[in-house]
Amino acid sequence: MFLTFGVKDFLDILAVALIIYYVYKLMKSSGSLNIFIGILVFIVLWIIVTQVAGMRLLGGILDKVMSVGAIVLIVLFQQEIRKFLFSVGAHQRIHNLLAFFYRKEKDNEKDHSTFLPIVMACLNMSRQKIGALIVIERDEQLDEIAQTGELIDARISQRLIENIFFKNSPLHDGALLIRGDRLYAAGCILPVSHDMNIPKELGLRHRSALGISQNSDALAVIVSEETGYISAALRGQFYLRLNAEALESLLYGEKS
Ligand code: ATP
Ligand code: MG
Repeated sequence: MFLTFGVKDFLDILAVALIIYYVYKLMKSSGSLNIFIGILVFIVLWIIVTQVAGMRLLGGILDKVMSVGAIVLIVLFQQEIRKFLFSVGAHQRIHNLLAFFYRKEKDNEKDHSTFLPIVMACLNMSRQKIGALIVIERDEQLDEIAQTGELIDARISQRLIENIFFKNSPLHDGALLIRGDRLYAAGCILPVSHDMNIPKELGLRHRSALGISQNSDALAVIVSEETGYISAALRGQFYLRLNAEALESLLYGEKS
């Protein structure tokens, strides 16, 4: 059987390895790594019991659990599966490849002045230690998040952003959602990240920024009320104490 190991088998193994790697990355970024390890242990146990040891009774029970398990997993990880499929479709390399073939201009390329008011507002609020939380949508539309807040749909403007986050203004609590070149909604409630590794000094504003960055491809920008520092969260990762240039390059999606 080992003599007939061909290209097909190699591709087969490679595909499985890639899938496991992708699932691992996804689980890690969504903070459910322990569940992933638990499932792996269970699968290994199942293979040992049924294939290696050939225990029929226990194997039969595990077989039953495995067949229901698939459905349980789909229900439990509905969010993650959605995200996985989304990330496959929205993958930058696939986009670049398509753009290469169609020689199409990248339509999400933003004009270099779109986000300038956001940068200016953040710098101003940072100086005055006004807390702010701004979520910039990328490919994924965050309609459920927008619904938790107040719809504004206004042109991006520095003064409007500062007005929204001005202390005691009705909409200063929660997050401002940016869609394209519009200030789309304010006072939005974000999912809070339950990541254990977040530094203790970062509170709910930072945790919810990380949460939305784990749940979507959006960029979340935070101005700390306590320290005045500007930080950001993207794809489950914090970028702390940003200067204007670093913030700008994150906003325009360049590698920093
Ligand atoms: P700071 O450095 O500004 O104090 P922090 O990370 O310590 O930020 P908190 O002090 O807990 O965070 O900030 C609380 C504010 O964060 C709230 O007033 C609210 O505006 C915002 N906030 C908290 N939780 C959420 C959430 N789930 N979604 C959106 N905004 C939230
Ligand atoms: Mg705080």
